[in-house]
Amino acid sequence: MKRFFIEPSEAEKESPVITGPEAHHIASVFRLKPRDHILLIDGTGAEYEAEIVMCAKNRVQVAILRKSAPATESAIKITVGQGYLKDKKMDMLVRHLTEIGIARWMPVVTEFSVPTPDRKKTDARRERWTQIAREAVKQCGRTRVPEIMPPLCFSEALETLKDMDEKIIFNEKETVSLSKTFAGIASNPLNIFVFLGPEGGFSEQEVTAAKAGGFISASLGPRILRAETASLAAGTLIQHLFGDMR
Ligand code: SAH
Repeated sequence: MKRFFIEPSEAEKESPVITGPEAHHIASVFRLKPRDHILLIDGTGAEYEAEIVMCAKNRVQVAILRKSAPATESAIKITVGQGYLKDKKMDMLVRHLTEIGIARWMPVVTEFSVPTPDRKKTDARRERWTQIAREAVKQCGRTRVPEIMPPLCFSEALETLKDMDEKIIFNEKETVSLSKTFAGIASNPLNIFVFLGPEGGFSEQEVTAAKAGGFISASLGPRILRAETASLAAGTLIQHLFGDMR
């Protein structure tokens, strides 16, 4: 069954209606018809099985048959702070990290970030990442859309993270093995922040500042990974050790 978004308020109504691009997808892209069944997600954790009642180009009316809450959301909340990379790599990471199950995406401009985001384009980029995350949520069966934060600078990022249970900075110069580093982490942290550098890595000062701010430094092994490989490896490992990829 195909999955589409519905506004949470609409899902509560007697005759819920889907409008805009989602209606366009149902009616024109997938050419679904009355009596076809679809799955609807409201982006806040619920999923509904529904039957199409009426189908017009930009307006689809449905009848909700049942509501469920599939267990596709990780119990841990991972925030990925990503040193700013080129647009295509950032897009790819939002898509794949959403599949891996992160809760929040925080682009960070660091000392060695090569593309510095143009403030004027920031909103459009954030909008685009949200759209990519929504599509990935539909595809992978999740029920919540990761929060996409506006780009922050390094010091703002450190400042924003006070409520986190664990803060981990991945640093290719770290020599202590990951298992040793993680042995020191409480068995069930809920909010975990993982920080990954841009292509040029973190500067010495950034690593020092992060450690002073309560971060633990972690290694991904003896090879230097490309920034985007490192982010996917880190997200996967955190889900494996503390989340739902055990
Ligand atoms: N400055 C480095 C490469 C940075 S790799 C150089 O060119 O030599 C980009 C980011 O990926 C790093 O900042 C780090 O967060 C992560 N990373 C890559 N390989 C890693 C490893 N072996 N251990 C931990 N983090 C790694």
